[in-house]
Amino acid sequence: MVQALNHQRLCDQADTVWRSHLGPAFSPAWGALYKPPLTKRQGDLQWRLLHGAIAVNAFVCRVNRAVGEGCPFCGERETVVHCFWECGRLRHMLELLRGLFTSLGAEFNAQVFVGGGQVLQPQQEEGAAAQFPRRSGQDGRLCEQEEDGPGPE
Ligand SMILES: [Zn+2]
Repeated sequence: MVQALNHQRLCDQADTVWRSHLGPAFSPAWGALYKPPLTKRQGDLQWRLLHGAIAVNAFVCRVNRAVGEGCPFCGERETVVHCFWECGRLRHMLELLRGLFTSLGAEFNAQVFVGGGQVLQPQQEEGAAAQFPRRSGQDGRLCEQEEDGPGPE
């Protein structure tokens, strides 16, 4: 009933608050978001992040007039996108991640950061990314890397 009454408004609404950052064809890699070493709780947080279901100040100020809509770090309007992608306090962390991804031959962007993106293509998994220790089993212990001679050149 509610959906029928608001059908037109819902049709005009983006499916995620991140749509303008993710592009029109992107869909989250849910399998990657709920796969070890990530815990279910971390996957759930990513689900909430993608759906804008996080109590940021732009929402909280609507239900609590004592709260302003500004970001406590920079004063900009605190939306989910601002809080997790645009805020200046994230700059160093995002630069660090961008450098790490670049060193692995992968691109770092909002699709990867928020959607768990299809980052590592099969040929890349065989390259630099394969040199990282892998986790195995349900306990998430690190596996020893096999020493089978010099790596790829
Ligand atoms: Zn901010």
